[in-house]
Amino acid sequence: MLETTIAGSLPKPAWLAETDKLWPAWRASGAELAQAKRDATLLWLKEQEDAGIDIASDGEQSRQHFVHGFLEQVEGIDFEHKVKMGIRDNRYDAMVPQVVGPLRLKGRVHQAEALVMRGHAKGRIKMTMPGPMTIVDTIADRHYGDKVKLAMAFAELLNQEARALEKDGVDVIQFDEPAFNVYMKDVTRWGIDALQAAAKGLKCTTCVHICYGYGIKANIDWKKTLGESWRQYEEIFPALARSKIDQVSLECIHSKVPIDLLRFLKNKQILLGVIDVASDKVETPAEVAAVIRSASKYVSPKNILPCTNCGMAPMRRDIAAAKLRALGAGAELARKKLKPARGKSRG
Ligand code: ZN
Repeated sequence: MLETTIAGSLPKPAWLAETDKLWPAWRASGAELAQAKRDATLLWLKEQEDAGIDIASDGEQSRQHFVHGFLEQVEGIDFEHKVKMGIRDNRYDAMVPQVVGPLRLKGRVHQAEALVMRGHAKGRIKMTMPGPMTIVDTIADRHYGDKVKLAMAFAELLNQEARALEKDGVDVIQFDEPAFNVYMKDVTRWGIDALQAAAKGLKCTTCVHICYGYGIKANIDWKKTLGESWRQYEEIFPALARSKIDQVSLECIHSKVPIDLLRFLKNKQILLGVIDVASDKVETPAEVAAVIRSASKYVSPKNILPCTNCGMAPMRRDIAAAKLRALGAGAELARKKLKPARGKSRG
């Protein structure tokens, strides 16, 4: 009960890449960089296991950015001539690569890190990839001329890599779709179809992560415009509930998401955000347990996996490590509190 996991990314050590940045430059290249990525992956695996995280992530130590890390292995994309584009409905500008021809995978994308994780993890492991809709929102298209066609083309490539990761021994494959909280109408029109195409045929656990973004200024400012009650999830959860995706990862602690919206996802496992990635203040186990308790009024604790609100990539390393420990300790506290209650009800 209450198995813990994280949304995905963790900060890169200063010897691997620039710190506190969303698109950090690597410190090395070639074989030296490959070794450094492997070392950082192992380091974070150990930190997660020591913190009591049940389903560990590679912390995305091998990719520069959660979207572009995948795109770098795709043929038909021009990374040499990036263009400035407003992303997430123009919330902030990013320098994005351009689609210039038919898309094809150059080879495996995340095999190296998946095998490091499988070779060393004591428990289950998760790998994350960007979802089709979020990719389409983070790239300039000069070839397909149609968002849905482009999304479906990416979904096919994601599915290829996902099936290969499953063969590598990955237990959970998660697609990150922060764009689902921005283009809610398109989510029901084609976003979930594209997501399901990416997850097609997988026998391992599948997950979709939908959040209000990293703790960067553009996102914090945007959240201030969303009012007292954030109801984006309300528009997409009923459609997601009908999908074949097993788990939904969502933002909860310190957000203005009404907790009762969880009732739409009774048939899913919930990765409940109990760690704030937009604040350096480390949660106490009691705070974490309180969020779990309030969620357990709407979903069975059996279906709750305490998790972070979003990735921790742009955060300070020591703070991220402390937050992992708070997550583990808070879930443990919640388990203890929920158990006697069940005992009592049995008489
Ligand atoms: Zn996120």
